[in-house]
Amino acid sequence: MRNNESVENEGLLVRRIKNGTVIDHISPGEALNVVKILGITGTTQEALSIATNVPSRNMGKKDIVKLNNRELSKEEVDRIALISPKATINIIRNFKVFEKKGVETPILIEGVVRCPNPGCISNTHEPIRSRFSVKGKGLHCVYCDWVITGDIPSHII
Ligand SMILES: [Zn+2]
Repeated sequence: MRNNESVENEGLLVRRIKNGTVIDHISPGEALNVVKILGITGTTQEALSIATNVPSRNMGKKDIVKLNNRELSKEEVDRIALISPKATINIIRNFKVFEKKGVETPILIEGVVRCPNPGCISNTHEPIRSRFSVKGKGLHCVYCDWVITGDIPSHII
């Protein structure tokens, strides 16, 4: 038995990346939406791995996203709260959990979600980023007052 095998079970999943971020305790089925809300697409450079429906003591099942060589900013992390409020963020440095934190619902999100109102100034060719204030479970467009309730992932730019 190797010396470092005494790390707790959940640590096994975390410990496989050398540096980066592990987003843990994602609501089952939401991993791809987490990736989307972080702005990671097929054309960006991140090396990521996704695990879905992993057995979890507290949640029954959960999803996990691992991002190699990338630490997430507070702004990026807090977007995750909109779709998975129980997610936890583990910053990994040299195979160890350097920092562990929860996600907090942001007050304002910018440039993440598109306003469904075709007449909204944020949908014209003006160089204006979309801006929504977060109130309860709704997103209010700062420009036109349109309210998005539910299914936030379908509105992500
Ligand atoms: Zn609007």
